[in-house]
Amino acid sequence: MADAAPPAETPVTAVPPVEGEAGEAGPSKKALKKAEAKAKKEAEKAARQKAAAEREAVAKAASQGEDNAKDSYGPETQETIEKLPAALEINLKTLGDEHIGKTVELRAWIQNSRLQGAKMAFVELREEGNWTIQGVIAANADGTISKQMVKFVGAINLESFVRVQATVEKPLEPVKSCKVSNYELHLTKVFVIAAAPQMLGMNLAVANRPIANFTDEEAPVEEGVEKLSIAPADELAIPTATMLTHLDNIVMHKRSAVQQAIADIRIEVKHLYRSYLRDRGFKEFEPPCLIGAASEGGANVFRLPYFEKEAFLAQSPQFYKQIEVAGGRKRVFSIGPVFRAENSNTPRHMTEFTGMDLEMEINKHYHEALDIIEGVLLHILRSLPERCAEEIAIVRSVYPSEDFLLPEPGKEVRLTFAEGQKLLREEGPEEFRNVSDFEDMSTPQEKALGALVRKKFGTDFYVLDKFPSEARPFYAKEDPENPAVTNAFDCFLRNQEVLSGGQRINDPVELEKRIRSKGVDPESPGIKEYIDIFRQAGVPPHAGAGFGLDRVVAWFLNLPSVHLAAYFPRTPKRLSP
Ligand code: ATP
Repeated sequence: MADAAPPAETPVTAVPPVEGEAGEAGPSKKALKKAEAKAKKEAEKAARQKAAAEREAVAKAASQGEDNAKDSYGPETQETIEKLPAALEINLKTLGDEHIGKTVELRAWIQNSRLQGAKMAFVELREEGNWTIQGVIAANADGTISKQMVKFVGAINLESFVRVQATVEKPLEPVKSCKVSNYELHLTKVFVIAAAPQMLGMNLAVANRPIANFTDEEAPVEEGVEKLSIAPADELAIPTATMLTHLDNIVMHKRSAVQQAIADIRIEVKHLYRSYLRDRGFKEFEPPCLIGAASEGGANVFRLPYFEKEAFLAQSPQFYKQIEVAGGRKRVFSIGPVFRAENSNTPRHMTEFTGMDLEMEINKHYHEALDIIEGVLLHILRSLPERCAEEIAIVRSVYPSEDFLLPEPGKEVRLTFAEGQKLLREEGPEEFRNVSDFEDMSTPQEKALGALVRKKFGTDFYVLDKFPSEARPFYAKEDPENPAVTNAFDCFLRNQEVLSGGQRINDPVELEKRIRSKGVDPESPGIKEYIDIFRQAGVPPHAGAGFGLDRVVAWFLNLPSVHLAAYFPRTPKRLSP
């Protein structure tokens, strides 16, 4: 086989050695000993003869071109499927002692293989979730497993998808290189359902290494990456590939244990978000992606032809969740795509990401909403280490990170924007000695403040409240006691913003006034329709927030880029796959 890799360790197998037979006892002690020695000799002779006969049979079969196993291996066809004897279908995850000695059937990828001489081969078989098991195949005397079959199995291209039937055995020692280490499969049938090419564009070992470079314009393939399909024993000798190579080889990118783990953590974040909110009376809804007017003033919006008109892709579900509240829902949330036509080529930005939004009616204070928002994030961050311990460990083996520091319950950190700026001025780096309470923060400022908060309060999660009016959109409600600031906040994870939220203006007169004060025409498309929502009927005071699922996953795991947390990252320069 072209690019079979010898597994790092010699596989341990329970293929039984040829054994002799016991002798019979004689009447006296001396005679007994003699008989014993004779029996031993005979047994050894018999074993030698048996082994020689086996060798001869295999050699004969091979030399004569006979192959008694020819129906047990090869490319899978409808005929091979129909001829296959029934066997218990298993998943590696659920393999147990009850399967030992039984014939089972499995569909899996060939992750690694190694021929040992002409009569034995070892393979690593992998199922979803990085479940791997060692498979062993050894030519036998009766030819039901032939030398040709062994050779075929050892030569299957890596990452081919196969169907095997096998007997489950216990290996003599645990197979350390496989996730399922306490069992091995003694293969009796092997059919290739879908063959991989002889040379993979990127092999699994490379796919599992940290990404070298996230620039989209970089040369597509690093020297040697394409050629390498064998994982050397020394991991550091495995080259790394660029994001571009990963995305050009999206199938292998996704097959890597690290990407599978990130995707599983992402699913868990979504689940935790949804269940927390549902338990608190929130109702899910789906906002539209296609909209008729650019929602937030028209900047950074994707335009597309729409019959005789023009349509836009929604930059946020903001207005729609407010319409849901105006329409009689007390608490709503959504999870869906959000589009930003920003030419931001940074590790924090994508042109399409998954927004997790919520909006709720408030009774007396917008902190009722902040309590929920902070609560849902803390619930996610506190639950993940336990619920995804294995996945987090896999990610850390590729992208190392320290434990995410969380505040003790009741000791959550909420600073006002002004308090944050004061901290930066007094204890931050020199360049932030003069930061203003009335200008938005830059990314370096956010990072410096996050580092100070971590040092001072021992948390990687905190809230910054009361953003200056200048830094917030027209719909943000001003603080009645200090109109220079708004009832609006951001949340930070490992020094980076993941969420913006706050109270919205629900009175159409106040809204129109504020829109004018921002220099925006209240009659302009999109804006007029927005104000009209509050003119149609009395809308209760409400607040909410929007956060990026991709960023929550990426910063929780301390990934070098948000692109790694997305299934199919979209950037200004990349629209495929
Ligand atoms: P930034 O200043 O980082 O560009 P923003 O202030 O434009 O973000 P918001 O409009 O407040 O972000 O969006 C709410 C949340 O959506 C952000 O906190 C972030 O988690 C996520 N988000 C915003 N823009 C992007 C993007 N381009 N790619 C990925 N996630 C994003």
